[in-house]
Amino acid sequence: MIKYGLVCDKGHTFEGWFKSSDGFDTQKRRGLVECPHCGSIHIDRAIMAPAVARTDKTPALPLANEGEWVSSSQEMTILSSEERELRAKLAELRLEMIKNADNVGDDFAEEARRIHFGEAERRQIYGQTSLDEARNLIEEGVDIFPLPPGTDHN
Ligand SMILES: [Zn+2]
Repeated sequence: MIKYGLVCDKGHTFEGWFKSSDGFDTQKRRGLVECPHCGSIHIDRAIMAPAVARTDKTPALPLANEGEWVSSSQEMTILSSEERELRAKLAELRLEMIKNADNVGDDFAEEARRIHFGEAERRQIYGQTSLDEARNLIEEGVDIFPLPPGTDHN
């Protein structure tokens, strides 16, 4: 059982017990949650008192002592620089992949098919296509690969 603090549309607060976190929503939808003070069925879960009472500027983050807090900030710095590196690598990979490829723009799906079926010169191409169209191409056996994100420096 889970105990929730509840509040009706008249501002009466009371408590209710529910079997699960879904229990309240289900019972509320069926009009089974009723304010014991006025009988209203317009009930919401009340915001937990500690959050309302919080007047200091402490960030709403998991409690940790100062030492732990410092080490977790350092960890975040390492992660973000790794991410920067990864992004740079992806951008490099993208440039490598499109270096010798023709930009066919929105005609990508059509051109990829033409190449696949030998109707166009076999070459590297890149361009845009919808996710659905990309799925169709893969199902048709056309060998395509999503380009890594990045900007093209032409
Ligand atoms: Zn009420």
